[in-house]
Amino acid sequence: KATIRLDKMLGNLGYGTRSEIKQWIKQGTVTVNGEVTKDHGRKVDPNADAVTLNGETIRYRDTVYVLLHKPAGVVSATEDYRDRTVIDLLDEDLTVLSPFPVGRLDKDTEGLLLITNDGKLSHELLSPRKHVPKTYRALVAGVVGQADAEAFGSGVRLDDDYVTMPAQLRVLASAESAAGGGMKADAPDDAAEMAAVLGFAPSGQEAQPLSWIELTIHEGKFHQVKRMFEAVGKKVLYLRRVAMGPLRLDPGLAPGEWRELTEEEIDSLR
Ligand code: URA
Repeated sequence: KATIRLDKMLGNLGYGTRSEIKQWIKQGTVTVNGEVTKDHGRKVDPNADAVTLNGETIRYRDTVYVLLHKPAGVVSATEDYRDRTVIDLLDEDLTVLSPFPVGRLDKDTEGLLLITNDGKLSHELLSPRKHVPKTYRALVAGVVGQADAEAFGSGVRLDDDYVTMPAQLRVLASAESAAGGGMKADAPDDAAEMAAVLGFAPSGQEAQPLSWIELTIHEGKFHQVKRMFEAVGKKVLYLRRVAMGPLRLDPGLAPGEWRELTEEEIDSLR
């Protein structure tokens, strides 16, 4: 049975400092199971005991796990002097628990970002030894083909001489960016999704071939996907992460939207 000191429970929830909370409890503003308690060290089971503060029911929690569809334009940090952060997108009752993003997506990258205050889990997911797979979809300038898939499959040398681990590349669709250009795709869904992101392609006069690809990597070097394509002479125009380990980007979440993980998802990460 998990118990926690009453003052710690309220403190963890961000209601006030430990000494403020002690005082409020002494003043009789807190009840446990309907009775005023003045014992700030009293142990309570947050799942079984009903706690109120100034008549308000306190729903306790100590961990937070959020799946965010990160939009472009916000940074993967907890604080930034200039830009909005991914934490700014969450509700205050979650941010009091000091969550942080598990790894980073570039400011212009969209897609799945796990946000938690579970340091142990974060550490495990980011551990280079664990090789947690991360899957991205990208719009790439040029025709991505078999040669690129083979290069990524064996590893490419990045601009800092690091050689990447084997990664799996699939071309989902290819098209010309100019209106009326023939769209070729393995599946109609891929073509539709690609059409939806074509707005990210530069709209020059010249029709340029574009490829909509899916890439799974098992490590997380700085700007890795963009730099892998640079290594084969191509440019990523738009990047979205769609999976990390067992987590998938929820199709019901628009960029900027988030939801808490289900119990099943949390278990799947352990
Ligand atoms: N690779 C990149 O280049 N950028 C990201 O944001 C994630 C992976």
